[in-house]
Amino acid sequence: MAWSCSGNTNDELVARLTEKHIIKSEPVISAMRAVDRGHFVDYQPYQDSPQTIGYGATISAPHMHGYALENLKPYLQSGMNVLDVGSGSGYLTACMAAMVGTSGRVVGIDHIPELVDASKKALDRHYPEWLKSGRIRMIVGDGRKGYMPDAPYDCIHVGAASPSKPQELLEQLKSPGRMFVPVGTSSQRIIVYDKDADGNISQAQIMGVLYVPLTDPDSQRTS
Ligand code: SAH
Repeated sequence: MAWSCSGNTNDELVARLTEKHIIKSEPVISAMRAVDRGHFVDYQPYQDSPQTIGYGATISAPHMHGYALENLKPYLQSGMNVLDVGSGSGYLTACMAAMVGTSGRVVGIDHIPELVDASKKALDRHYPEWLKSGRIRMIVGDGRKGYMPDAPYDCIHVGAASPSKPQELLEQLKSPGRMFVPVGTSSQRIIVYDKDADGNISQAQIMGVLYVPLTDPDSQRTS
């Protein structure tokens, strides 16, 4: 079902994702309309499939980005503070920035400097205010450790698979807060971790997926 959402333009892609009820809510639909996927990936940007972005990385399929935004929506409200681990193309980081608005903050972190540069160039070209104002910051670093300077976060999206429960990242979630993360090695599941107001953590499995692993740069470049 999800794979039938391709379009010829960004608006068409968003319309198909909406028709198939993958994205349902106004804030998510508006964000995916406001941020053109074609600004972040050159090859077939409006096809509902992952695409390679070089350096052993892929931009996730639009339906996965849609599921992630819908799921994290309660923690992507105006003014909220967000971390995007494995920000890659920067597309999802930008969608989340659209949702948290001018008073919100989103940090994207990726360990491949060339990808961080490319994502900053795309943002600078198409959404210059978001970088200039500090609404988005793109950092080179090991996302497995999160990003302490801006912690804690209302929500954390992880765009690469963690082999096991990402304890260090969970510590950087606010109470309450939510994390959307693929967990596993050969077989992976999206796990949504919820931290309640008292700091207790519960988890729900959402779906089976296949993401590139959270790893170190050398292993990724030779994968
Ligand atoms: N959300 C991104 C997904 C990119 S693919 C997008 O849709 O464009 C996963 C990304 O995780 C890659 O860019 C890869 O470089 C990055 N990654 C893998 N291991 C990492 C690590 N340890 N620290 C930071 N980024 C990592």
